[in-house]
Amino acid sequence: MRQFTPEVVPPARRGHEQAVLGLLRAYGPLNRGELSQRCGLSRTTLHDTISGLLTAGAVVTATPDEAPRGRGRPAERLALNPAAGQALGIDFARRAVHVAALGVTYEIVGTVGEAHAPGLPWPDRVALAERLVRGLLGGGLWRRTLKGVGVGVVGPLTGAWDQARNGSRDGALSGVAALLGERFGGPVLLDNNTRLAALAESTWGAAAGDQDALYLRLSYGVGGGVVAGGVLHRGADGVSGEIGHVPVDPAGRPCECGGTGCLETVASIRAVLDAYRARGGRGDDLPALTAAVEARDPIALGLLSEVGGQIGRVLAALSNAIGPRVIVIGGELAELGAPLLEPVRKALDAGAVPISRHRLTLRRAALGDVAGAFGGVALALGESPLLSRYPAPEPEPEPEPGPADSRAVGRRGGPAPRPAVGRGAAQARPRLPLTTSPSLPVSRGRRAAS
Ligand SMILES: [Zn+2]
Repeated sequence: MRQFTPEVVPPARRGHEQAVLGLLRAYGPLNRGELSQRCGLSRTTLHDTISGLLTAGAVVTATPDEAPRGRGRPAERLALNPAAGQALGIDFARRAVHVAALGVTYEIVGTVGEAHAPGLPWPDRVALAERLVRGLLGGGLWRRTLKGVGVGVVGPLTGAWDQARNGSRDGALSGVAALLGERFGGPVLLDNNTRLAALAESTWGAAAGDQDALYLRLSYGVGGGVVAGGVLHRGADGVSGEIGHVPVDPAGRPCECGGTGCLETVASIRAVLDAYRARGGRGDDLPALTAAVEARDPIALGLLSEVGGQIGRVLAALSNAIGPRVIVIGGELAELGAPLLEPVRKALDAGAVPISRHRLTLRRAALGDVAGAFGGVALALGESPLLSRYPAPEPEPEPEPGPADSRAVGRRGGPAPRPAVGRGAAQARPRLPLTTSPSLPVSRGRRAAS
C-alpha cells in the first residue's frame, strides 16, 4: 500500500494560506484585489500563496458571471474548493475505526467506518484510518489545507494537547499520536472518544443547543460525557465521563479498570450477551439478541429490564449531582429501543430529584456510530464554545516575514496576517447531515421539590 508522505509546508506559508482561506470562508468568492485589501499581504506573497492553494486544490477559480462591460475582462474570482480537506475526525473505537472529513467550506465531505477484530495493533489501526481517509478524500493534496486532526481513543487521557508535537504523557499513546502526525501532517489532538461523541451530540446532534447535557454510550465499552453550563467538562486527569466505571454491584464481576461490579460489567454489549446466555438465552451476537427482543423473548426482555434499571439508577444519581436538562443515550445497545430505554426512564424517574424530574428529557443519540469522529472534527477546529475550558491547541509558529513581506508587515504592525474568522468570531458553522432523534420525555411527577 502506498504511504502518505506529508508535504512540508513552511510555517509562514501555512499561516498565509490559512489567512486567505479564512477570508474566502467569511466573504465567499473574492478577486485578487479584494483579497489583497483584506489580508494585507504584499502582492508577491499573495500571488505565491494563491498559486500554492490553487496547486493544492484548496481553492478554485470561479468563472465571472457577467460579460465584460467595456472595461476589460472582469477580474477572476477565487473560491474555496468544497472537496478540499479542512479537518479530520478519527474515532479509534474498540472494534472499529470511524472517520469524518470536513471540507474548507465547512461542509462534511463524508464519513466512513470499518470494523476490525478486537486488539488490532496500533500500526494496523492507523493504517486502516489512512486507507479510510484516502477513500474519502482521494490523494494527498488536501493535507495542505488541513487545520487539524481530532482523534478519539478509549480511556481517560491525561496527556498534553498537541501530542504529535509535544509528546504525550500517556505512554503508548505518544507513539500513536506521533505516527498519526507523521501520516496526516497536521496538528493531532487526542481525547477520549466517548467524550468526543458527547461533544458531537451537543454540537450537532440530540443535545444541540442544550447547555446542560449528559451523554451515555452503551457499546463494547460504556462511557459518557458531561456538558455543564455550555462547556464540555474534562475533569482532573481527563476522567470526566467515565460513567461505565460507576460501581453498581459490590459482589459483581471484576472490571478491566481494576474495580468490581462497574456499570460496564453489566451494561456493555459483551456483558449483556454473557448474561443472556447464562440465563439460557440463545445468541452469540447483537443481531441475535436484537432478534430475540423483537420476538418478545422473555429472557431477553427480563434481562434488559434489569440492565435498564441499573443504568437508570446511575443516571439518576449523576443527574442529581450535575443537573442536566437532557440525557442522551447512544451506542449499539440503545438501538434495542424501548425494552431497554423504558426501564432506564422508569429508574431515572424514580431516582431523580422531583424538580429535575419535571424537566429532564431522555433522548436517543442522533449521530450514530460516527459521533466520535464528528467530535474529532469539532475538536480539530477548536472553535466550539463547548471547548472554551479546554486548553487551546498550540498555535502555528509565527511566520517569519520575508523581504517581500516587509512593507505589508510594517503597516500592520505584526508579522502574521490573521484570518477574519476564529474562535468566537462570527463565521460559517460546520453543517452536518442530521437525523431526528426520538425524544423520550421522563414522565412528570407530582411531588414538589424537596
Ligand atoms: Zn470499571
